[in-house]
Amino acid sequence: MTSNTLFLSYVMRQFESAAQTLGISQDLSEVLRRPERSVIVSLPCRMDNGELKVFTGYRVQHNSARGPYKGGIRYHPNITLEEVTALAMLMTWKCAVMDIPFGGAKGGIACDPKGMSQAELERLTRKYTMAISSIIGPYLDIPAPDVYTDAQTMAWVMDTYSKVKNEPTPAVVTGKPISLGGSEGRNEATGMGVAIVTREASKRLKRPLKDARIVVQGFGNAGYASAWFLQQMGCRIIAVSDSKGGIYSKEGLEVEKVLEHKRRTGSVINYEKAENITNDELLELECDFLIPAALENQITERNADRIKALAVVEAANGPTTPEADRVLFEKGTLVVPDILANAGGVTVSYFEWVQNLTRTKWSIEDVRTNLEGKMVRSFEDVMRSAEEYGVSARQAAMIVAVKRVAEAVEALGSWP
Ligand code: NAD
Repeated sequence: MTSNTLFLSYVMRQFESAAQTLGISQDLSEVLRRPERSVIVSLPCRMDNGELKVFTGYRVQHNSARGPYKGGIRYHPNITLEEVTALAMLMTWKCAVMDIPFGGAKGGIACDPKGMSQAELERLTRKYTMAISSIIGPYLDIPAPDVYTDAQTMAWVMDTYSKVKNEPTPAVVTGKPISLGGSEGRNEATGMGVAIVTREASKRLKRPLKDARIVVQGFGNAGYASAWFLQQMGCRIIAVSDSKGGIYSKEGLEVEKVLEHKRRTGSVINYEKAENITNDELLELECDFLIPAALENQITERNADRIKALAVVEAANGPTTPEADRVLFEKGTLVVPDILANAGGVTVSYFEWVQNLTRTKWSIEDVRTNLEGKMVRSFEDVMRSAEEYGVSARQAAMIVAVKRVAEAVEALGSWP
């Protein structure tokens, strides 16, 4: 089984378990299990050296019962229809658990963006946008950045779509540059959301945030912002890492200084005021909150019983395997699941879309106050459901999400 097939099967299992707990009928389950539309497009693209390369692009629209489809566009050599399908389904549940009026989608192109020039990436992005322009739109499907795509990519998508439709349409994508209608606070939204749910978890666990020991795996966009906000809240960031390794300081790291060091040297390792450790050692450190913010499948049955954190807050998508989840639940470790913990990004994307459609501009304070309210409410919904059904927070988040989507699908009925 490839890792993408495995990932899709994990996502399906999570759904099936929630559907079973909720007593959802076979018929309705069958509807929710399948994407409403899966599109594969062929993208011939001229490279800088004159050669013509044909790339494959995907857009999977899982469910739109609660609103327009929403989800990122990923550029990665190993992307497959199965991976995009799993990610689209997760987006449906993520938007539902946050109670924002979107369905779920995901897209991507199988390509190696690290080996391509900006001009090649622009041409490929515009080709892809043309190819899917009839199935995206501000009230239909709203893409956003994901792995190896960014605000610039969204600017090209927006411009191409606007040219095709012959009208400026900023609301067709989120995560745009601020100069084109992007929202204040979008860049750091995922990290801020992670910090807010960590604070809420600390209240439940009766472990005050003051001096709480935090370990962050992955010091990119999500990991750095999570560490920064948690440091502002009084926590001690005792270890961080990137793909080259990790660093540890019992007294705590100054995250802005670590970022400067990473910018200067290309990695967090060899930071003078800390000791180097491996990524495996980092995951097993004694701490209050462990925040995986790098890749999938980091906490597995191999290391789950050695995780010493009081709680795991999943900034990354899918960092814990189902087997590891079971081990952590049995030993009483709270796992704040990805679809809740990292939903700050899509929530501020929703705020960006609202600003574009209403031709308004929110201040950073407005964005942060609204994000705070949404994260706290969703955290409480999930914890209430965990208590009601006697399940883990991950199962509870899925139960909240699947229930909301199932109710919407049932209320719509079937037409024609
Ligand atoms: P990023 O590329 O900015 O950062 C990833 C970080 O992980 C980098 O520091 C990289 O060096 C590190 N890393 C890579 N391999 C590693 C390894 N084996 N061990 C330790 N560190 C490793 O990516 P990002 O946007 O921060 O995304 C990280 C995770 O968070 C992904 O799972 C992503 O899907 C998820 N996420 C991000 C956002 C967002 O808004 N950025 C939103 C939701 C979910």
